[in-house]
Amino acid sequence: MLLTDKFGRSIHDLRISITDRCNYRCVYCRTGTNGAAYAELPFADYLRMARILVSLGITKIRLTGGEPLLRSGIVDFVRDLAKLRTVHGEKPEIALTTNGHLLAEIAQVLKDAGLDRVTVSMDAVDPARFARITRVPNGYDSVLAGIRASRCAGLDPVKVNCVLLRGFNEDQIIPFGMFAREEGVVVRFIEFMPLEEDRLWTPGVVVTLDEILARMSEYRPLAEIEHGRSETARRYRFADGVGEFGIIAPVSHPFCGHCSRIRITSDGKLRTCLFSTWDHDLHELMRRGAPDEKLVEFIVKTVASKEERHHIGEPGFVPASRTMVHIGG
Ligand code: SAM
Repeated sequence: MLLTDKFGRSIHDLRISITDRCNYRCVYCRTGTNGAAYAELPFADYLRMARILVSLGITKIRLTGGEPLLRSGIVDFVRDLAKLRTVHGEKPEIALTTNGHLLAEIAQVLKDAGLDRVTVSMDAVDPARFARITRVPNGYDSVLAGIRASRCAGLDPVKVNCVLLRGFNEDQIIPFGMFAREEGVVVRFIEFMPLEEDRLWTPGVVVTLDEILARMSEYRPLAEIEHGRSETARRYRFADGVGEFGIIAPVSHPFCGHCSRIRITSDGKLRTCLFSTWDHDLHELMRRGAPDEKLVEFIVKTVASKEERHHIGEPGFVPASRTMVHIGG
C-alpha cells in the first residue's frame, strides 16, 4: 500500500523534526520567550515511524527542527535511516535543514553516515545583519565554515535558504546572487509565511517571487531551469552558466496541488500540512503499545485526510495550530 491523499496526491516526502530547541532566535521565527518545555523523542521512536512510513512509499527524509544539530546522536540516527530500504529497494534520500552553526565539525561525519544533502538557512550575507536577524553575535563565520565544510564533504548540492522580509533584508537579493556564484551553492529565497511566534506577518512584509526576479535581473541576465512537478522551487541560473538560485513562493504562487509532503513534529505528531489546525498523535498510539499494523492504519487514514491547500492571505484564514519552530521547517 502506498500513501495517497483523497485528492490523488502521492506522498513520498517526509520531514522529521527531531527537536524544537534552537540556538538561534531569528526575528521572523521565534520569540525565545515562551518558556515552554522542549519536546523531543528518543531516536528509536522517530526511527520506528520512519521505517513504517518508508514501507508505505516515503523515498525522501529531511531532518529538521528546531535546530537538529543540537541533538547528539544525530549521526547514529542518520546511519540507521540509511539502512532503511524504500519500496523500490533503494536507500531513502536523506537531507538535513540546519542553521549551520554547528555544521563545520560534523558535515563529513554526517556524509559518511549516509546524509545526502544539506540545506543551510542564512538570511543575510553581511555578518552584522546576520547577527541582527539571528539575535546571536558572531554566528556568521561559523555558518560560512559549515557551508564550506559541507561542500568539501561532498554533500551536493549545498542549498542556502533565505527568507526575505520587506524593510529588513530584501537588499540582500543581489548579494546572495553573488554569494551563490562565489561559493558554488544553490541559494533559495523563501517567501515569508504566517508561521512565526510573534505574529508579525502581513501580506506587505512578503517579498514576492516577481520582486525577487525583477531585482536579480538587474544584476545579471537569468534563464529559468525546468523543474520537476513536485519540486517546490522555481529554479533559475545566471545566463553565463555560473550560479543557480531558486524561489519558493508558497504565498504568491502556491504549489499545494503538487504537495508530496507529510511531517512528524518533534513530539511525534503526524502533520499533514504546515497550516494544519490540528496534529495527529502517532506517538501516543505507539506509547499505548500499538503494533505496526495499527500504526499503518492510522497513518494511511491521516494522510488521506490531508488538506487540499493552505489559505494564506484569504479572508477567514485560520492560523496554523503551531509555529514553524515547533513544526519543523
Ligand atoms: N534550525 C534549522 C534552520 O535554521 O534551518 C531548521 C528549522 S527552521 C524552522 C527551517 C527553515 O524554516 C529555515 O530556513 C527558516 O528560515 C524557515 N522559516 C522559519 N519561519 C519561516 C516562515 N515564517 N516563513 C518561511 N520560512 C520560515
